[in-house]
Amino acid sequence: MTIDKNTKSFAKGDVILKQGDEGANAFIIESGAVEILIEKENNLVQHIGTRGAGTIIGEMALVDNNPRTATIKAIEDSVLLEITKDDFERRLANSDPVVQMVTKVILARYRDMIARAQIFGQSSNTIPTPEDMEKGLVSKTNAVENIKLSNELKQALDDNALELYYQPIVNLKTSEIAGFEALIRWNHPSKGFISPETFIPIAEDSGLILEISRWVVLESCRVLQKVKETFPSSKFFLSVNFSATDFSDPSFKSYINYVINSTGIKPSELHLEITERLLMTNPSSARDTLDECRKEGMLVSIDDFGTGYSSLSYLHYFPIDILKIDRSFINNMVDDEGAMELVRSIISLGHNMKMKIIAEGIETEEQAQMLKGIGCDQAQGFMYAKPMPPEDLTIFIQEKS
Ligand code: C2E
Ligand code: CA
Ligand code: CA
Repeated sequence: MTIDKNTKSFAKGDVILKQGDEGANAFIIESGAVEILIEKENNLVQHIGTRGAGTIIGEMALVDNNPRTATIKAIEDSVLLEITKDDFERRLANSDPVVQMVTKVILARYRDMIARAQIFGQSSNTIPTPEDMEKGLVSKTNAVENIKLSNELKQALDDNALELYYQPIVNLKTSEIAGFEALIRWNHPSKGFISPETFIPIAEDSGLILEISRWVVLESCRVLQKVKETFPSSKFFLSVNFSATDFSDPSFKSYINYVINSTGIKPSELHLEITERLLMTNPSSARDTLDECRKEGMLVSIDDFGTGYSSLSYLHYFPIDILKIDRSFINNMVDDEGAMELVRSIISLGHNMKMKIIAEGIETEEQAQMLKGIGCDQAQGFMYAKPMPPEDLTIFIQEKS
C-alpha cells in the first residue's frame, strides 16, 4: 500500500508550479520554503514573496479553473502535501454554509488582489513568524497530520483495509443475545491500531464519513444476513453508528434501501445509532431522514444518552425507539447514589415514552443485576463480550445458546 502518496519532495531550485499552467491542486508546505514569482509581459520576473512550513500554495486552483497566476520555486529542499480539488470540494461541501460562502468570497477577492499585484507590482507577505504560529494563524501540525491521516484513511477504505467488529447486546431478562453493534477498526500499516474515536472525527471533517458509513452499513448487513442463515430461528438486530452528515445526505435513504434489498435483511433488523450531540448539528434534516427510515420499519437509537448538552425537549421532536445510556453513568452507578437515581430516571422517562433502554459499558455482574432490578431492557459491555471479528460470531452465539 502506498502511504503518503500525496506527499511530494522538491530540491532547492525546482519549479513546483508554473505560471499559466492548468492546476487542480494546492500544496501545504510541510517543510522547507518556496518563493513566489510573477513573470511580466516585458520578460521581467518579479519576486512576490516567500512561503514557509505550514502555509499553503496554489490554493486558487481549488476554487476556479483559471491558470496559475504565479510560478513557485523551492528555495530550500521542501516537502509538500498535496490537496486535490476533489478533496477540497468534499471538505467544503461538508462545512457550514456560511463557512462555504466566506471561503469562496475570500478566495475570489484574493485572486483579484493578486491580479492587482501583477499590474501594480505590490509585494505580498512572507514566511509566518513564530508569533503568527502561536496566534493560530497557521496551525500547521494539526492541519497536516489530519490531512495525512485522512488521505491514508481514504486509501485504507479503497484497499478494503478497514474492518468491522461486532459487540453483542444482551436481553437482561432472558440473558439471550438480542443483537450486535458494528464497530469499525483501522489497523494502520505503520501506526498500528487507531481508535475510531480518533479517526471518525477526521472522517467527519473531511466528508469521508459518507463513504465510510456506506461501507459499514453494507458490510455489516451482509454479515448479519450470514449469521441469520447459520441460525435461521434467530431474531438478532444490527446497530450501526451514523454521523450527522449521513442524515443530511439526500441519497442516504435510497442507499440504505439498496443495502436492505441487496443483503436481504429486514428493515426492522437495522437500528440506526446517532449521538445526541450529532443529532443537534442539523436537526431538521436529521428528523426528515429518520422519519422516512422509520416509516420503512428501521429503528432509531440515541447513543451516549445523557452526555449531550441539549434539553430533553428534543426527545419529542425526533422519532426515537431506543435510548442507550452512556457508560459513564453505568460506571458510577454502584458507588454513587446520584448516578443510580439518574439511570433509574432515564429508564422510567424512556419507558413512559415507549422507548427501549440499553445500558452501555457493563463490566460487572453487580452492574448487570442493578440494571435488571430497575427495569433496564438490554445491556452491552465487556462483561458479556468485547467487540469481536465476524469469524468469532458463530462460536459465540453457539456457546451462548
Ligand atoms: P460507541 O458507539 O459508544 O461504541 C461503544 C464503545 O464502547 C466501543 O468503543 C466499545 O468497544 C466500547 N465498549 C463496549 N463495552 C465496553 C465496556 O464494558 N467498557 C468499556 N470501557 N468500553 C466498552 P470503540 O469500538 O472504540 O468505538 C468508539 C466510538 O467510535 C464509538 O462509540 C462510536 O462513537 C465510534 N464508532 C465506532 N464505529 C463507528 C462507525 O462505524 N461509524 C461511526 N460513525 N462511528 C463509529
Ligand atoms: Ca454506538
Ligand atoms: Ca455509546
